[in-house]
Amino acid sequence: MNAPAPGSQEAVVPAASGRTPTPTGRPAPGRSLVPAGEPPLGALVAPEPAERPDLWPTTARRGDDGQLVVGGRSVSEIVADAPTPVYVLDEADMRGRASVWASVMAEEFWPDYGMNGGDAFYAGKAFLTTRVARWMLSDGLGIDTASRVELAIGLAALTGEGDGSESFPPSRLGLHGNGKTAAEVAMAVQQRLGHLVVDSPEEIAYAAEAVRRLRAEGIYGPDERAGLMVRLTTGIHAGGHEFISTAHEDQKFGLSVHTGAARAAIDAIIAAPELELRGLHSHIGSQITDPAGFEAAAEAVLRLRHEVAADTGVLCEEIDLGGGLGIAYTGADAPAPSPAALARALAAVVRRLCDELGDAIPHVSVEPGRSIAGPAQVTLYTVTGLKRVELGQGASRLYVSVDGGMSDNLRPALYGADYTALLAGRRPDPAVGLVRSRLVGKHCESGDIVVRDVDLPADLAIGDVLAVPATGAYGRSMAMNYNLFTRPGVAWVRDGRQGWILRPETVEDLIALEGE
Ligand SMILES: *Cc1c(COP(=O)(O)O)cnc(C)c1O
Repeated sequence: MNAPAPGSQEAVVPAASGRTPTPTGRPAPGRSLVPAGEPPLGALVAPEPAERPDLWPTTARRGDDGQLVVGGRSVSEIVADAPTPVYVLDEADMRGRASVWASVMAEEFWPDYGMNGGDAFYAGKAFLTTRVARWMLSDGLGIDTASRVELAIGLAALTGEGDGSESFPPSRLGLHGNGKTAAEVAMAVQQRLGHLVVDSPEEIAYAAEAVRRLRAEGIYGPDERAGLMVRLTTGIHAGGHEFISTAHEDQKFGLSVHTGAARAAIDAIIAAPELELRGLHSHIGSQITDPAGFEAAAEAVLRLRHEVAADTGVLCEEIDLGGGLGIAYTGADAPAPSPAALARALAAVVRRLCDELGDAIPHVSVEPGRSIAGPAQVTLYTVTGLKRVELGQGASRLYVSVDGGMSDNLRPALYGADYTALLAGRRPDPAVGLVRSRLVGKHCESGDIVVRDVDLPADLAIGDVLAVPATGAYGRSMAMNYNLFTRPGVAWVRDGRQGWILRPETVEDLIALEGE
């Protein structure tokens, strides 16, 4: 395995190795009070993998020597080959979650149960590399993309790796997003993607134009059409434990069912000789833990499908209910519903509504991202600084600086997302007590917080390795270079082996981008 490249973050930022704990920087065990209004000390300890397996990759456990082990590799073995900060991807976990989604959708929407087929498209924006895309395709999923490069990676993954391995059809890919350019739409039409989800009247016009050109060039048959899905905004928004239903649509995504914009787009597709209405699409939000929002959205989509069929005779074959199933990030989050529970709830609504409306049952797809990628990765950080801040009346907080921050996990700064952190390089000693702590990054922003509130062992020291669970979705994919941090690599682990699925960026990579 690779040693850190010369000029990597490790070599360029010597602060970590140059500092030693100062007497004032060390917490005094047992003397710290938590700030007023905060939960009691001990309430915010990160659960161990054995206590909350849903929070951690499936192979995570405490080894006999007290270190955290993932994929059969202890923390010290992992960081010997992949220095911190590093994302650690449990391959078996991610692929297991993908297979579960593929099988629960196939089962709940099985034609022999009177349904019309179901499948899952992995939302690649959560974390995508060519290898991840190959895993998802091999494990029975499609792949949703939301940009030119995500689509290029999806397309590259369709063909075998030159070793006679399986190839997959472009019907297994999707393209989403608002404000698609004519070139992006044309690429999706030319490649005959399974899900081209349009988000505006212009995109419909771009698709028709692309079909005319492809017919003229003989790439499309003379009567061949492009199938489009329409992104609806149903008025249902969900996130966390609740959903809201509103007739107002004040957001950039989708075409409103309430204002008639969605219907106008659908009618334009039906009227165009180059296009066909493949289906209706809805994505109601993210980090959703209550299936009721999905059920309400399914109902809205099925009612619109019925209305379109009654008026035009066109009953679309497919509905896509998007992604958004939540996961647990901290011990305070209840375990999220399983994919099986969600698929079963959706199947029940689809069956009931189609029965009531007298419509044929559609093919149903979903687009999980976070629930596949999220729990599969943990981020390992090394503690580089400890600063106890007195808050008056005996209360204090330990600010724990780690060798990463908002550049490798933007979610806390972007929307206040909560995480937790576990002492991973050694077993916490229950005898030493705890200290109310805040994990912070090394960036020049006071909002550069990794974990807002966590109780850590009071003997925490510079050089200790901490693990933050559930960073696999929107961690590396939202990483950036603020303060010219190089983006960390993603190390895969499996059965005691390890490698890079994405190597760490180097200073040379960044300098190579500079013009003369
Ligand atoms: C983000 C997104 C998803 C995936 O959402 P998760 O919360 O990661 O499951 C699926 N579909 C669409 C259209 C999205 O924008």
